[in-house]
Amino acid sequence: MLVLMKKDHTPENVEGVRKKIESMGFAAHVMPGDHSVAIGITGNRGAIDPGEFLLLPGVAEALRVTREYKMASRDFKRKDTEIVVGGKVTIGPGRFVVIAGPCAVESEEQTLRIARLVKSHGAHILRGGAFKPRSSPYAFQGLGLEGLKILKKASLETGLPTVTEALDHRGLEMVNEWADMIQIGARNMQNFSLLQECGKLKKPIMLKRGMSATIDEWLMAAEYILEQGNPNVVLCERGIRSYDPQTRNLLDLTAVPVIKDLSHLPIIVDPSHGTGKRDKVAPMARGAIAVGANAVMVDVHDRPAEALCDGPQALLPQDFEKLVQSLRSLAQALGVAL
Ligand code: PEP
Ligand code: MN
Repeated sequence: MLVLMKKDHTPENVEGVRKKIESMGFAAHVMPGDHSVAIGITGNRGAIDPGEFLLLPGVAEALRVTREYKMASRDFKRKDTEIVVGGKVTIGPGRFVVIAGPCAVESEEQTLRIARLVKSHGAHILRGGAFKPRSSPYAFQGLGLEGLKILKKASLETGLPTVTEALDHRGLEMVNEWADMIQIGARNMQNFSLLQECGKLKKPIMLKRGMSATIDEWLMAAEYILEQGNPNVVLCERGIRSYDPQTRNLLDLTAVPVIKDLSHLPIIVDPSHGTGKRDKVAPMARGAIAVGANAVMVDVHDRPAEALCDGPQALLPQDFEKLVQSLRSLAQALGVAL
């Protein structure tokens, strides 16, 4: 249920509605909008009678929200959400953010080298995995805590905030301590207890789409985080499994306008994992800005043949430089800041 207040409501009216909701044993979420205030209700198992609220002073309407996600939905919040990463980079409407870096933190030398390079070509946020979810248990699993410390060092030197993946509860605590945004990878999109732990934090969470998740399932996963109290969720489209082996995944750019319609949350596109092929990354990154994504995240490596993870999809430094230049032209044409 969503309670919409009249334009001329008073703060006492809002308090009255909040108390009423809490007295019913539910949680109230007060959301100031451009014209008035909406108060969302969560925690109810069945439908609530709108009559409970319509007679309270200052209430204009009480709407049933029948979707299985509420706080993630546009019905709940009309205005696009902005998320601030590391106190300096805003992901949200009117601008386009570039996230770049190696797939994995492999060594201090490699990470600092690539961090400097992506910074010099215009990246806003540095990526790099310290905990890697690998299909084979024999593949490089990441440097763990040591990798997080290297990423932090690269961040301090370049001034770029960081995003890195947490694979499990223990990793989540460490990533929360060392990074600016926490990535929940495709394989963990429906790890509900991990999502709930993310919801208890304040740090931005980048929630990647599961490889066979529908958009509704993805938004319900986001709801697990929001509902626990962390409003800082950014979605990331990274491709879904398809039958065609030409690309690693099928990058679903349609998801961007669909998400924009259904949700107020910002959305990032990852064309590196989405295509798995270096030469397909730039065209799809340009597609991402054109369809209204708020950011792209790309793998960059200066020695991809030596990369311990995902070398074939890493952009070379010169490719990345060219990509950012072309994104700047597109941003200008589209009227977004970059
Ligand atoms: C990654 O970004 O490093 C990654 C493992 O991505 P995904 O979870 O989308 O496969
Ligand atoms: Mn990867």
